[in-house]
Amino acid sequence: MKHSYDAIIIGTGQAGPSLAGRLAGSGMKVAVIERKLFGGTCVNTGCIPTKTMVASAYAARMARRAAEYGISTGPVTVDMKRVKARKDEISGRSRTGVEHWLKGMKNCTVHEGHARFVSAHEVTVGEDLLAADRIFVNVGGRAVVPEMPGLDQVNFLTNSSMMEVDFLPPHLVIVGGSYIGLEFGQMFRRFGSEVTIVEMAPRLIHREDEDVSVAIHDILEAEGIHLRLNAKCIRIAKRDDGVAVGVDCVDGDPEVHGSHLLLAVGRRPNTDDLGLEEAGVLGDKRGYIVVDDELRTNVPGIWALGDCNGKGGFTHTAYNDFEIVAANLLDNDPRRVSDRITAYALYIDPPLGRAGMTETEVRNSGKHALIGTRPMTRVGRAIEKGETQGFMKILVDADSKQILGASILGTSGDEAIHTILDMMYARAPYTVMQRAMHIHPTVSELLPTVLGELKPLAGQIGASGT
Ligand SMILES: Cc1cc2nc3c(=O)[nH]c(=O)nc-3n(C[C@H](O)[C@H](O)[C@H](O)COP(=O)(O)OP(=O)(O)OC[C@H]3O[C@@H](n4cnc5c(N)ncnc54)[C@H](O)[C@@H]3O)c2cc1C
Repeated sequence: MKHSYDAIIIGTGQAGPSLAGRLAGSGMKVAVIERKLFGGTCVNTGCIPTKTMVASAYAARMARRAAEYGISTGPVTVDMKRVKARKDEISGRSRTGVEHWLKGMKNCTVHEGHARFVSAHEVTVGEDLLAADRIFVNVGGRAVVPEMPGLDQVNFLTNSSMMEVDFLPPHLVIVGGSYIGLEFGQMFRRFGSEVTIVEMAPRLIHREDEDVSVAIHDILEAEGIHLRLNAKCIRIAKRDDGVAVGVDCVDGDPEVHGSHLLLAVGRRPNTDDLGLEEAGVLGDKRGYIVVDDELRTNVPGIWALGDCNGKGGFTHTAYNDFEIVAANLLDNDPRRVSDRITAYALYIDPPLGRAGMTETEVRNSGKHALIGTRPMTRVGRAIEKGETQGFMKILVDADSKQILGASILGTSGDEAIHTILDMMYARAPYTVMQRAMHIHPTVSELLPTVLGELKPLAGQIGASGT
């Protein structure tokens, strides 16, 4: 059956539903297509369930540390069925919220099934053919399953199947020492599993500065997580009691034995089964849809938003994509992807909040820069909470006095970083924040202090000590 619309939105992740709301609200006849779970990755297998589980893991950790705070508890046990039930409840509420919103939306029709382009303006969903002049692709991504010797011989988990785990894996081996692997690793260690994280690179989350990587390494190791870096030629073998992961590391045992294996080695876009060729839409060699600064593809009338365009990889970047497209189409407001500043968090405990450039990027840029740092052991709020791991670091352009970037690894780092981020958006000189009166006692109250103690970035021309 053929249906004609003004706009078709494929996928109900972090951009599609809000865009449907704006387009339908403007009077357009809109179709929304979802092949699986309403709300997409963030709601069902990403941010919301993992942060819900991180909260359970934090509770377990603090219960075990209770005596340090003068609190007596009985033996601490973790009931994984209840951890999962709490996660399912919170994630499920969000999923049904999105579904009911879309299904009850005026001017909007929901089609459930897999969408595939058959031409630049037509998409099939099962027996239905949907046509529109405007098509918005918000299909997200999924876990990469790499070609790894022996992987086809064993059962393995990804971030999606981890959502069904309602038991305690005796020994969880995680291949991948980046954001997703580290969050699951610390969480399951706190639930009570033995955890080994295997990483090919010489250090964890190697996109971060080395001092950040090292501090995170120390935090995880202090909780008893085994870290195997420099793992080359990773190979997998089945064992009676689980799996063996050959790591060929420079040091230590050449093999890690575990009961369960989690793959966390990256994400790939859901574009391989979308019929992009039929529509004439170009992708790059990794499958990401190529878009311009307003998220238009090479085909007039087709846009790509969220993880599938390779411009972000986070919920807030996908939502920002929606804002950019809606502003350009409906508000005559020329918002651009290039207007946004890098920002994200890593939700281990304590979290890492990041904004703008890393120190490495600043050095590589050749900018004349200043740097200020402070360990969390010198942050009153962290001391009072008994959570003094980590440090903060801010980089400033010595010429313009604008903040270039910051990393706050420490308690509330994911929140405090926004003070920096907003200063960066305001393009204000750092002296504005340096003179601002912040609230005591908070982590953010030390940001003006750090800015008052800036020093030339060592190793740069003109820096002291070089
Ligand atoms: C474990 C994990 C933790 C994460 N934690 C965070 C975090 O803390 N903070 C953060 O900002 N980000 C986090 N992310 C990333 C975040 O989840 C994603 O960036 C975000 O969900 C991307 O949204 P999206 O709209 O691009 O696509 P998605 O949310 O992936 O949604 C795409 C939707 O499209 C549907 N779809 C796909 N193909 C088709 C088709 N052909 N037809 C019909 N429907 C289709 C899918 O079923 C899905 O519902 C995490 C990711 C993971 C995996």
